[in-house]
Amino acid sequence: MINVAIDGPSGAGKSTISRAIAKELGYIYIDTGAMYRSLAYKALSLDIDIKACEEDVLKMLENTSLNIVYKNGEQRMMLDGNDISDFIRTPAVSLGASAIAAIPEVRQWLMDLQRNLAASNNCLMDGRDIGTSVLPDANVKIFLTASPEARAKRRYDELSEKGEKVTFEEVLKDMIIRDENDSNRKCSPLKKADDAVVVDTSELNFDESVSAIKAVIAEKDGK
Ligand code: C5P
Repeated sequence: MINVAIDGPSGAGKSTISRAIAKELGYIYIDTGAMYRSLAYKALSLDIDIKACEEDVLKMLENTSLNIVYKNGEQRMMLDGNDISDFIRTPAVSLGASAIAAIPEVRQWLMDLQRNLAASNNCLMDGRDIGTSVLPDANVKIFLTASPEARAKRRYDELSEKGEKVTFEEVLKDMIIRDENDSNRKCSPLKKADDAVVVDTSELNFDESVSAIKAVIAEKDGK
């Protein structure tokens, strides 16, 4: 199987870019952030205070089933049998995901799911720890990044388009908090793998970013 790992901070364009490239290569696209978001969504729905009550989160996992299905080539998250994909992109779920991702047992629980998917599919998997922890033997590793302002601007445009009422300053602040949580947590922090190629998209538009990453994959994997 061919596995491409794409890691980087929130809003660097990982998911839109990865989705487009996976489609072109005929690989499946695995958005691991959506998995953390799905678990955070469930914890929030159950009124669990994620940071204060880790034990409740772990108890929740015992009664949770999470699967990925593909509808028209698009990844959908099935939580306990329900498609919750449309509810996991709110700012509250973003912060919840970042908090739940700091719990080692949660990461282990999801890592098994992620590794099983990669073992049986050619895939492009994006996240924070794919090249470092989940798929250390991935054929290609990319670290996709951009300045906090460029990333916040993209996320703000995305949320505004969906009608979410947020300000640019709020989005930037959330982004910086999440960057800090993700980079400083003890368990699998956001970190470039030593053998990953860095692509900075601050000054690149979507097409240019896609081309830059395709060039790395072609060079590393002869695709
Ligand atoms: O990528 P996305 O912004 O959807 O991820 C939501 C949150 O899930 C991130 O802020 C991060 O805390 C966490 N995450 C992670 N490891 C991954 C993917 C996401 O810790 N592989």
